[in-house]
Amino acid sequence: MSNLLEGKTALILGVANRWSLAFAIAQAFRREKAELILTYQGERQRLNVEDLSKELGATLAPCDVTQDDEIGKLVHELRTSGRRLDSVVHSVAFANRDDLSRPFSETSRSGFLLAHEVSAYSLVAVARAAAPLMTEGGSILTLSYLGAVRVIPNYNVMGVAKAALEASVRYLASDLGPSNIRVNAISAGPVKTASARGIRDFSTVLDEVSRRAPLRRNTEPSEVADAAVFLASDLARGVTGNVLYVDSGFQIMGM
Ligand code: NAP
Repeated sequence: MSNLLEGKTALILGVANRWSLAFAIAQAFRREKAELILTYQGERQRLNVEDLSKELGATLAPCDVTQDDEIGKLVHELRTSGRRLDSVVHSVAFANRDDLSRPFSETSRSGFLLAHEVSAYSLVAVARAAAPLMTEGGSILTLSYLGAVRVIPNYNVMGVAKAALEASVRYLASDLGPSNIRVNAISAGPVKTASARGIRDFSTVLDEVSRRAPLRRNTEPSEVADAAVFLASDLARGVTGNVLYVDSGFQIMGM
């Protein structure tokens, strides 16, 4: 490719391991010459992510997105080190495993709130904290899924949280547009990752996509990553408030 992100600094939340969509995005951003800051949720993940961040020449910092003080500390450290941010990738989601296997109507109040806090509100909190560092404008990107707009078996409360996430993209795009900060989502086709393994019968979803999607195959993490490069780059300077499907075209199919 062609150094599309040269001179830009990207903060990437959600690299847990080599299979994370955020890792594929980080690799593609690095290929395009972005400077990277990766975050990890807690000590449990630090060692794993440390190796990956070394591989990418990235800076590493802790950030549990449910903790305002951790988001604040991260941004404070970036500001005091004189870092400007050009891009934020929010690739974070969580729901209780129980809520991804029983009927949606049985979702508990606490499970509903937890899924929304981690998977949707965190985008708002991170965007608010990061925006003042985006002094030359920038791009904020999150990851969504078709379950936001269609019923996907067992996706349940996560689908409702993704609907809130996609609506948040539009409201944030409206708020931050005057500062030339663009906010978009990629709705990725299903990919086998640690999070996806928490969804019951996930392999059936993969089979269905490979049989019915116009491209007759599943989504590769690198396809999501290349779309993320586009959205973070100046090529997408006129694009904000959008949900871009990178899913082999599956979402257009009726029967
Ligand atoms: P993943 O590798 O498991 O990534 C999910 C990330 O969220 C992990 O790094 C996880 O960290 C992090 N996370 C969870 N709770 C957090 C918290 N409180 N604070 C900070 N980080 C937290 O799975 P993935 O599939 O790449 O998921 C990335 C994004 O893509 C998610 O938004 C997911 O919904 C979306 N997506 C995935 C697919 C798919 O089929 N895989 C399709 C469409 C969209 P820990 O591991 O430390 O908990």
